[in-house]
Amino acid sequence: MDLNDTPEQAAFRARVRAWLEEHRDEAPPARLPEGGDEAEYLAARRAWQGRLAEGGLAGVVWPEEAGGQGLGPIEQVIVNQEISRAGVPGILDVIGVGMLGPTIIAHGTDEQKARYLGPMLHGDEVWCQLFSEPAAGSDLAGVQARARAQADGSWTLNGQKVWTTNAQFASFGLLLARTDPDVPKHKGLTMFIVPMDAPGVTVRGLRQISGEAEFNEVFFDDARLEPDAVVGGVGNGWGTALTTLMFERLTIGLGSEGLGYRPDRFAAPIAADPQARRDPDVRRRLGEVAVDLLALRFTGYRTLTALQGGQIPGPESALAKVTTVNAAIAATDLIADVLGPDALEDGGEWAYAISFLPGLKSAGGTEEILRNTVGERVLGLPSEPRLDKGVPFSELRAREREVTA
Ligand SMILES: Cc1cc2nc3c(=O)[nH]c(=O)nc-3n(C[C@H](O)[C@H](O)[C@H](O)COP(=O)(O)OP(=O)(O)OC[C@H]3O[C@@H](n4cnc5c(N)ncnc54)[C@H](O)[C@@H]3O)c2cc1C
Repeated sequence: MDLNDTPEQAAFRARVRAWLEEHRDEAPPARLPEGGDEAEYLAARRAWQGRLAEGGLAGVVWPEEAGGQGLGPIEQVIVNQEISRAGVPGILDVIGVGMLGPTIIAHGTDEQKARYLGPMLHGDEVWCQLFSEPAAGSDLAGVQARARAQADGSWTLNGQKVWTTNAQFASFGLLLARTDPDVPKHKGLTMFIVPMDAPGVTVRGLRQISGEAEFNEVFFDDARLEPDAVVGGVGNGWGTALTTLMFERLTIGLGSEGLGYRPDRFAAPIAADPQARRDPDVRRRLGEVAVDLLALRFTGYRTLTALQGGQIPGPESALAKVTTVNAAIAATDLIADVLGPDALEDGGEWAYAISFLPGLKSAGGTEEILRNTVGERVLGLPSEPRLDKGVPFSELRAREREVTA
């Protein structure tokens, strides 16, 4: 593993840095300013995404024929690092460009690619991911939203999704629905493109403790989907969804540098407090966070080395997500202890982080599910008895005894 830029990577970094220096004045702030107009801010973020796309700083790993740069994950990380260094926001539609676009590139028809990818990359049409439901999160294959085929080839959609980030301003959603309830659950699913302004689609915001309503419930009441809304073939929804989930893991993993979880950032408010910075317990807790974040950086380098060699990161990369989120929560807990109620000052940097971070324990796979994955698939521990519907409790207990024997 060589951690230095190759001459080509150094040249690429210099180009990216020069572009950002030239255009940074056009960038909107990273977050909606206190009392700012949401619609105006959103328009500015979309326009900035368009500028990044024109500059070749969006869709870095998308193939050239899809409008991307056709480069590798290292170049993506270089762009993330330089955007973070320049102190400007990245693209607005991380879910679309990072996860849903790659799914359409892998499974979509030529017509779908020609219609949707360009406006997605340039921020003209924002997308949302319509996967989770009230009773299907960790057990995603249990989705109940039902699409029924009509005689004219169209589909009628009914059901509910939840936790849909950005649905409040998305133009389209990529939706996992059940099209055949009579086959095993993984086999009866199909992926669809849903226009969010179609009759029968209702979006209702969920306000969070952070004060924002960035995710939503989405209801479908006899919403009509055209025959060409299917992505990846009828009945192939599970395989198509796995592509999205793989890119979700990569987006979270490669994006963490840009999330700003750096020891120096967490240390700054502590260093500014003369009493706290001399407190041995505070110093120990900060040291533990710094060690975790450093370990994560090197784990990230290992993932990049694997990616650069053409390998897809394995289940061990789940640990990076768990550790990143827990380290950031430990850091903000420490800052809350040091700053006291001031940490919750309205509109402040830490108030948002303290209230937003716990949600990340669930987003992109919950901690328990990821730990189970690492336990079973990396450490080779025996698998847990599954809580399948209809299995009597006595049977579960018997399976549990088998596992622990
Ligand atoms: C910030 C945020 C943004 C999100 N954005 C989107 C989005 O844009 N689109 C989308 O589709 N979804 C989105 N989600 C939803 C996310 O994918 C789900 O929250 C996640 O999959 C967990 O599902 P759940 O919330 O239904 O929890 P559940 O699956 O109901 O889990 C509840 C609890 O039970 C535990 N549990 C469940 N099964 C097991 C098991 N077998 N073994 C041990 N423990 C278990 C879980 O770990 C958890 O603690 C978002 C979530 C968050 C927090």
